[in-house]
Amino acid sequence: MNRLKETKVQKINSEHNTAINVNGVHIGEGYFTVIAGPCALENVEVAVESAKAVEKAGARVFRCSLFKPRTSPYTYQGFGLEGIEILKTLRQETGLLLETEILSTEHIDSLASEVDILRVGSRNMDNYELLKGVGRTNKPIILKRNMSATLEEFLLAAEYILSVGNEKVILCERGIRTFETYTRNTLDILAVPALKELTHLPVIVDPSHSSGKSSLVPSASKAALAAGADGLIIEVHPDPIKSYSDGEQSLDIPTFENLMKDLFEMSNVLGKKSFTSVLN
Ligand code: PEP
Ligand code: MN
Repeated sequence: MNRLKETKVQKINSEHNTAINVNGVHIGEGYFTVIAGPCALENVEVAVESAKAVEKAGARVFRCSLFKPRTSPYTYQGFGLEGIEILKTLRQETGLLLETEILSTEHIDSLASEVDILRVGSRNMDNYELLKGVGRTNKPIILKRNMSATLEEFLLAAEYILSVGNEKVILCERGIRTFETYTRNTLDILAVPALKELTHLPVIVDPSHSSGKSSLVPSASKAALAAGADGLIIEVHPDPIKSYSDGEQSLDIPTFENLMKDLFEMSNVLGKKSFTSVLN
């Protein structure tokens, strides 16, 4: 890990832990923050129904991808910039923060002006022009680990964002490629404490893309909290079978509500500041 010396992502001492205040929602040390929503923005009805449900269950941020990086060019590619109108409706109907994936530097201005958090997905972790582009905004950035990146490569990708002035980076472990095929990817759970040793940046986990199976998402989520993650990004859909993408790994609303109750209890035991004031 020699290349991490003198970087801005590097942890100076054990007390050096960053929590980012995103318009009143903290992500980082001491907190546990849940981001949830469908894989992709589909239409205004599904967006509003799922946003209201995840907010009621205690999520603070809504994932709403307007652009989808899909393996096949013939599958649903997302709503595109026209989805910004739906984001405006979500702002009126809920108190959730909004986050979305950015695929291209040409969309930085239009998306950064509409959402609270930008996400660089795993396929773009080493798209250095995009990293520098989002690094020139003042938006918090969720950076997902590429499925074949080492932790050092992951942290150096984050350094690209910090190096041009944006220190608000949230790292996301989303599973890596291994020989195992039962799960979509292999959740590298030790990446969480390992990253916490190496960097002061917040670390969250994506239990959905790492497992690829809704039946495994609750276990992966609880493991992430127990391993020291600062939050989760979870796919939730009111009717997963009808989801345009990733329905097999999306939680339905009752399952998400139950998971949130378990996480709430666990977070109290672990001394994390309550991740929600909404749960009762
Ligand atoms: C996503 O979170 O929507 C996504 C595409 O995940 P990943 O970049 O981790 O594959
Ligand atoms: Mn997805």
